[in-house]
Amino acid sequence: MNKTLKNKRRKVRQPKSRIRLFGDPILKVVCEPVEASESVSEIIRDMMYILFNNKNGVGLAANQIGYTKRVIIVKEFGYWQVLINPVVTEERGETIETEGCLSYPNVYKEIKRVGNVKVQYENDQRLFRAPIWFSIKASRIVQHEIDHLNGMCKVGME
Ligand SMILES: [Zn+2]
Repeated sequence: MNKTLKNKRRKVRQPKSRIRLFGDPILKVVCEPVEASESVSEIIRDMMYILFNNKNGVGLAANQIGYTKRVIIVKEFGYWQVLINPVVTEERGETIETEGCLSYPNVYKEIKRVGNVKVQYENDQRLFRAPIWFSIKASRIVQHEIDHLNGMCKVGME
């Protein structure tokens, strides 16, 4: 394979999306629910690409890469979980931890959050899950990413 072809291949694989950084108005957008008939496979593919290429990332919201749809990806027990139209249905406890965000590089902040959240969502197969409890670690990520879907990020707040 010659070099030109190789470069072409690499280009094809790269998504058009990139991480949107602080100051980008899309981070303030309240994202829309994903309709039943709507495909989100391109969004999920681009989000996974970004996560695989950001070693520090443990979660991502669709608007962080330019899609204003209610899709988040969260690392839970070492696995990436796709949550479409996530809704917290129950909350338990409280924790304070230091958080960062891919959209706010090198900013870390202590943030008080609910300890565990029970979440209802559709998975990457578009199957409705009965609400499930997430671990304390993933619960924090879920809350962080749902904040993004609602147009806000506590890491970036004054
Ligand atoms: Zn974030």
